[in-house]
Amino acid sequence: MLQRAVRAQVARRLVRDFTTSASAASAAKPEPSSAEAVRTALAQKWDAIIVGGGHNGLVSAAYLAKAGKRVLVLERRHILGGAAVTEELHDGFRFSRCSYLLSLLRPVIIEDLGLVERHGLRFHPREFSSYTPTPRHAATAPGAPSGMLLSSSAEATAASIAQYSQADAAAYPEYCERLGRVAAAFTSLLDSPPPDLQQLSRLPALGKAAMAGRSGSLGGMRSASESFPELASLARKAAALGADGPLLWEALTGPASRILDRWFESPVLKATLATDGVIGANVGPSTPGSAYVLIHHVMGGIEGKEGQWVYARGGMGAVSQSIASAAREAGATLLTGVDVRGLLLDESGGAAGAGGRWRHAAAAAEAASEAGDGAEATAAVRGVTVTAPCLPSGAEPLAVEAEAVLWGASPTSLFGGALPAAEASRLLPPETWSRMRGFDTAPASAKLNVALKGLPAFPAAGDDVNGDPSRRRPKPHHQCTIHFEEDPSEIDDAHALARALGRPSPRPIVELTIPSVLDDSLAPPGCHVANLFVQYAPYELTHPEWSAGWGDDSVRRRFMDSVYDVVEESAPGFRDLVLFEDLLTPPDLEREFGLPQGNIFHGAMSVDQLLWGRPAGGMARYRTPLGGLYLCASGAHPGGGVMGAPGRNSALALLADWRA
Ligand SMILES: Cc1cc2nc3c(=O)[nH]c(=O)nc-3n(C[C@H](O)[C@H](O)[C@H](O)COP(=O)(O)OP(=O)(O)OC[C@H]3O[C@@H](n4cnc5c(N)ncnc54)[C@H](O)[C@@H]3O)c2cc1C
Repeated sequence: MLQRAVRAQVARRLVRDFTTSASAASAAKPEPSSAEAVRTALAQKWDAIIVGGGHNGLVSAAYLAKAGKRVLVLERRHILGGAAVTEELHDGFRFSRCSYLLSLLRPVIIEDLGLVERHGLRFHPREFSSYTPTPRHAATAPGAPSGMLLSSSAEATAASIAQYSQADAAAYPEYCERLGRVAAAFTSLLDSPPPDLQQLSRLPALGKAAMAGRSGSLGGMRSASESFPELASLARKAAALGADGPLLWEALTGPASRILDRWFESPVLKATLATDGVIGANVGPSTPGSAYVLIHHVMGGIEGKEGQWVYARGGMGAVSQSIASAAREAGATLLTGVDVRGLLLDESGGAAGAGGRWRHAAAAAEAASEAGDGAEATAAVRGVTVTAPCLPSGAEPLAVEAEAVLWGASPTSLFGGALPAAEASRLLPPETWSRMRGFDTAPASAKLNVALKGLPAFPAAGDDVNGDPSRRRPKPHHQCTIHFEEDPSEIDDAHALARALGRPSPRPIVELTIPSVLDDSLAPPGCHVANLFVQYAPYELTHPEWSAGWGDDSVRRRFMDSVYDVVEESAPGFRDLVLFEDLLTPPDLEREFGLPQGNIFHGAMSVDQLLWGRPAGGMARYRTPLGGLYLCASGAHPGGGVMGAPGRNSALALLADWRA
């Protein structure tokens, strides 16, 4: 308690002296929309309502508004951005509370929406990208290396890896190149809907129905066969990989460790690279499927530099704010502090809706029914019900009407949530509903955001531990993603332990970044903000020593201390720099950000939940079996990360349906 008071006092003193940068000074505290704004919006009928103002929902809003549609975004929190958000939780310290690095945002979106040119999006590229201090390796023999630094300089990177293995230094450039080629094959799938195998599987039954002269089946055939172009394009891309084809298959199905073991011998390099294969995923590097997560994290790139991860200036909220600005400029209305509770349904005209507007949904329903997988009933949406604490009605749900609804929150909060299970089982084809119920949202991660009164010292990188931390000058390793594992088996062990025992491992897997090293808008001079992304954190703590649960202060303290212990091995004195802590465990991520069970991607990025399996066959192409209802966030193809692709692809699907 006393310690906390002292920290707060130090922070206040530091903040008094803080001559803030322009962008930090102008950042107004976000507040929920006013009662008047909410009342005015609810009284209107909209072309499209977007549920959730995460970055994907905002991308959908911008594209639809640019196409001239009347668009309303409804966000439950007081601030837009979802998991791409910046919040000032402690005076003068601004945190990217969830996501913290940017690479995946689709270039076409940056371009189409003018995010850099007109809406203020700025990047801090990192010349030095990855640092792994290796104090335990250094202790094995006199002169053993004490850290590996990867950077944009091929020579410097090779020299750093060569300290651990000459062979690995020689193999690394080719590894990057081949992985890059495989990632590029995936990248080309990001900007269009995936084929839907469940729809395609209905074709034989539809063919028979057509032969039998049932004319209704023709619409169904058209709907079921619309995946053909993407399926053909997928096959073409796989074939074009030539000798890299087997690597593609391995990347889709195999463990990251198998790929890394084939290329490298140094445990330090393998551990450093393996972390990309497990981030946010409830897998270890030896779990089949982890190789895909590895690929998912190298298929981006900012400003034309493939695979580059950068800090967004102003934190990740600046990405969302730039998209919001583009949406507003195009005429969209964005409300915060409005919680969507349910859907308004129209069952009078079936999936086509009373006005017959959603012909594709009616055709898909026909196809499902001809194939023996039809829903009991069909329906179209005609709006949503909401509550808004700013209105006198309080918790009483109010209706707001729209032609179409795009669901920008997790699919599990829609099916079985806003559309209760009894309704979902009646209105979704049995196969689709069964897959949706089994959608895997198991979490893996926690996030600890801390305000620091100075820069941590890494003696292995030549930092002076005795100097004044607030005067310490950032060096290359400080701008990196810093890993603390020296062998991939440490990651596997932590994963296995958390899974088997229902508790975090005593030595959690930690990834540390300090964005304020490059971005001076995030913290007072001399001070810093740091992100500690931590794995593995079970949703429920069942181990007897942890059974008080995440809500218990002593459990939270123990977890944070175990994180600091890991960092202190390489940066002694780290915990003494901490002025303020913001711990987000899986239940916190669920409660505060609506992430199901705290899953950072809205659902596991396992191979069975990609492409036609995301979130379930029958709605992989953003349309759901309900007329006018679309999925537009990370639970849809191509999944999680600050990418914007689901938002853009779903908006384009809706616009195409409106044109049809
Ligand atoms: C701790 C953490 C670290 C991460 N690190 C990175 C990273 O460094 N780089 C990266 O690229 N990705 C990262 N990710 C993943 C990435 O942030 C997410 O995949 C992405 O931001 C999700 O965006 P979205 O728009 O699909 O959904 P969300 O951001 O989840 O947005 C959904 C929005 O809907 C709102 N909402 C939910 N239900 C309702 C309702 N009923 N009514 C109204 N509003 C509702 C929510 O409040 C939320 O604002 C991280 C995620 C987390 C949690």
